Amino acid sequence: MDAKVSGRTAVVTGGSSGIGLETARLFLEEGANVAICGRDPDRLSAAVDDLAADEARLLPFQCDVLDKKRVTAFAQAVEKKFGGIDILVNNAGQARLATFAEASDENWREEFELKLFSVIHPTRAFLPMLEQSPVPSIVCSNALLAKQPEPHLVLTSSARAAVLNMLRSLASEFAPKGIRVNSILIGIIESGQIHRRYEAQAKEGESWEDWAAALARARHIPLGRIGRAQEAAQAIFFLASPLSSFITGTTLDISGGQSRFV
Ligand code: NDP
Repeated sequence: MDAKVSGRTAVVTGGSSGIGLETARLFLEEGANVAICGRDPDRLSAAVDDLAADEARLLPFQCDVLDKKRVTAFAQAVEKKFGGIDILVNNAGQARLATFAEASDENWREEFELKLFSVIHPTRAFLPMLEQSPVPSIVCSNALLAKQPEPHLVLTSSARAAVLNMLRSLASEFAPKGIRVNSILIGIIESGQIHRRYEAQAKEGESWEDWAAALARARHIPLGRIGRAQEAAQAIFFLASPLSSFITGTTLDISGGQSRFV
């Protein structure tokens, strides 16, 4: 099946690791131009090496999505290189482990700033280009926590719910322009941040495989394992491409059946 993304341009924030990196790889494999951003220059250049794409089709750009000026510069660089975009994947971010008792006011402000403005800044900067596309689409990496909160992730759960609500409004506001807005609700997916959690939490001598299997059991994931970054990327790709041309304002649950809501 032709996903009809060949020759299109996709921007993937947080495209230097994990789910974003696999999303960038899929778009490149399907013939799209891709721009990725991340804060760490070494991680960004390792991603470029890993993707091994034609320089003409891949733009890496060092950028913190919370830095509005830098995001504007990213959008200008993308416009200069590719002339516009068709797909925006708002994926940059990470979770913050904390209970209510552990979290300070500052932690709450930082978490809401990260989760909301990591969507607001890129969406605002790339919107004029999306408005020029015949197949414009925005997809956001959100978390199952938006609908199924966890007490040890109270900050992230609350902020993710706010993002989910905001995206529903954006879908309605942008629909008359033909811009579709959807998101994925991620359960637990193997990625850079999950590997960092393994390094911080694993018992001495505990392998990644044993730690990940124990995590899947502890979270009662019906499919019996945590997900792969590529599996989340495939869902993003579907929602971003014209394969889902009549879908907007909705979510796709990528959690191995972990969601308990109907
Ligand atoms: P990774 O840590 O592997 O990747 C995160 C990416 O985002 C990296 O490229 C990172 O690069 C970039 N990034 C983080 N903060 C910023 C920032 N402020 N500005 C620009 N880039 C940034 O994690 P995942 O692939 O797991 O994460 C992808 C998304 O999915 C995140 O939003 C995450 O919260 C969400 N998610 C993931 C889950 C999982 O189980 N993996 C569960 C629920 C949600 P750098 O650090 O160099 O900036």
